[in-house]
Amino acid sequence: MPLEERYSLKKHNTFGVEACARYFAPIRQVEELEELLIADMWKSMPLLVLGEGSNILFTRDVDGLVLKNEIKGIAVIRETADEVWLKVGGGENWHRFVMFCVGNHYAGVENLALIPGSVGAAPVQNIGAYGVEVKEVVDEVVAWHLETHELLHFSNADCAFGYRDSIFKQTYRGKLMIVWVVFRLSKHPHFHTDYAALREELHRMGVKDLSLRIICDAVIRIRTRKLPDPAKIGNAGSFFKNPQILVAQYGELKTRFPDLPSFPVDAHTVKIPAAWLIEQCGWKGYREGDAGVHSHQALVLVNYGKATGQQILQLSERIRQSVYERFGIMLEREVNVW
Ligand SMILES: Cc1cc2nc3c(=O)[nH]c(=O)nc-3n(C[C@H](O)[C@H](O)[C@H](O)COP(=O)(O)OP(=O)(O)OC[C@H]3O[C@@H](n4cnc5c(N)ncnc54)[C@H](O)[C@@H]3O)c2cc1C
Repeated sequence: MPLEERYSLKKHNTFGVEACARYFAPIRQVEELEELLIADMWKSMPLLVLGEGSNILFTRDVDGLVLKNEIKGIAVIRETADEVWLKVGGGENWHRFVMFCVGNHYAGVENLALIPGSVGAAPVQNIGAYGVEVKEVVDEVVAWHLETHELLHFSNADCAFGYRDSIFKQTYRGKLMIVWVVFRLSKHPHFHTDYAALREELHRMGVKDLSLRIICDAVIRIRTRKLPDPAKIGNAGSFFKNPQILVAQYGELKTRFPDLPSFPVDAHTVKIPAAWLIEQCGWKGYREGDAGVHSHQALVLVNYGKATGQQILQLSERIRQSVYERFGIMLEREVNVW
């Protein structure tokens, strides 16, 4: 297995910011992890597991070892007349996996088409889009513990999935490499078309009969139109989570800001679109040097070229502060900052 030294991470993060890894190792098999990490030298160094770098902001170099997940493979490990269980390598590209499922008529991930990144990172923040979260189809997560060198198995319940959250972002943050994910998919699609933007797109497409392929196409059309392509302009999708606040706080805010949008979460909580809060504070389209806020998507921070991670982080902190001062809501980052 090649071990690179002084390795640039610029091509390995969708913000396209410059950062350097002291050591960088692509991992293609679990055995390689085992062999590599046995050496004492790693015990005193930080380790960072990297997928496709679409949810990370580098604000400094990695003075340690970057483990790039390149474990591949998609295998059917169990099948009934109604369902299929797929064991998928953490280094598989997420969208390619979605297309594999759609092509084989396995239902459950079609609404998650075109989300950048790797399969191994999908459970970390419980990726979600257009009314579906990956937790709905994760059966098991298999991960290598970077310190104890054990292979751990997490059932769906063990993963403690929440909104853009899981046990891998909390208790096990930075401690594991997810090597495989087992997905449980349906052979009888139950289409998720409750999300307004998706319904409207299907209507615009003049769709009469739904299929996995059509849902997937509609999602791809919306995403291509709405989200900046990291290949053209550096970004990591939504920089902040949509805040969830108590209904009582929402009531107070609504009297001061009658246009405040919200989505019900449960009887006590509502979700507020962070993009709306940011836009109200005048940040949409703001640019300072090469760091900025996207002109169509206030939730997406962008690198127009030569911004540093520090500059993007500083801008994000100013946004957070101004939203807090105006609305009393402290935004939480969705993007991982190194
Ligand atoms: C244009 C754009 C649109 C996006 N849209 C969405 C969206 O709709 N919904 C959504 O949920 N997200 C979205 N994202 C965020 C991103 O696509 C997801 O979070 C994705 O799962 C990140 O995958 P990755 O492989 O790039 O992870 P990375 O950025 O490489 O890593 C992210 C974090 O997970 C950890 N990690 C990565 N792989 C592993 C592993 N195998 N084991 C343990 N830890 C690991 C890393 O250490 C890091 O902390 C978007 C991003 C972009 C750029």
